[in-house]
Amino acid sequence: MTIKTLLSNHQDLVQLAYFAIIMVLLWIGEAFFTAGLAHEKFKHTRINLLFIFTALPIQLLMVSIVLMIAVWTNLHHWGLINYLPMHKNFWTYYITMFVLMDLCEYIYHVTMHKLDFLWKFHLVHHSDLKVDVSTTVREHPGETFVRMSFQMLWVFLLGPAAAVLVLRQTVQTFSNIAAHTQFRLPERTNRIIGLIFITPNLHHVHHHYQLPYTDCNYGDVLSVWDRLFGTYAELGKKETVYGVDTHMDPEKNSKIRSILKIPFQKLERK
Ligand SMILES: [Zn+2]
Ligand SMILES: [Zn+2]
Repeated sequence: MTIKTLLSNHQDLVQLAYFAIIMVLLWIGEAFFTAGLAHEKFKHTRINLLFIFTALPIQLLMVSIVLMIAVWTNLHHWGLINYLPMHKNFWTYYITMFVLMDLCEYIYHVTMHKLDFLWKFHLVHHSDLKVDVSTTVREHPGETFVRMSFQMLWVFLLGPAAAVLVLRQTVQTFSNIAAHTQFRLPERTNRIIGLIFITPNLHHVHHHYQLPYTDCNYGDVLSVWDRLFGTYAELGKKETVYGVDTHMDPEKNSKIRSILKIPFQKLERK
């Protein structure tokens, strides 16, 4: 078996290793270059990393179903892509599918904020009172299930090839981890890159504890949807306070048991 076939047969593990490498590298960078006590950073990271253990089994199981759906849609020429004129050309096909899937992620994220019973799961991600690369994996297992269910729906509706899903996952992993890093882009660079992409500066605004900022910058990889649908916002580093105004207790926010219970408690209005 060549390395190439080994890698293509175990894409899920390759993606997992890639995710871990980016996260560890950025985490080390944060530990060295940003101010803060080392033991505080370890404590914060430890809580968030526990969510990997609850998410991973759900994620891996559901990814295999997503891939099965992709194989089925391609075999039966099913999905919106077959009705779009650009699907015959390699480049336009990949770009169109990537952009459409990014729009789906935007819709998913808005839905998680706007429906109360889904917000109770998603607010676990927002309840982090410090945001660093480890916040990327702070996700309630209930949200992992909902996120992957939505992904099944998008794949069924659009009909992307499995290779598009791999490309998307590769870009998405980098973008999502980078969006949570404590490093921020210089203002000028942010203005240029932020025209198209979600930058750490833009995602930090989304983690601000109060409305209307919590309900802004929903974009996953691209920021164009926020600009297009009027949910784009900017906020300076000094003004940004991480968390959710209904869940600001540091004690509760750092205990995995109390965090996991959040979706099953009565929701106070934001
Ligand atoms: Zn959110
Ligand atoms: Zn986030």
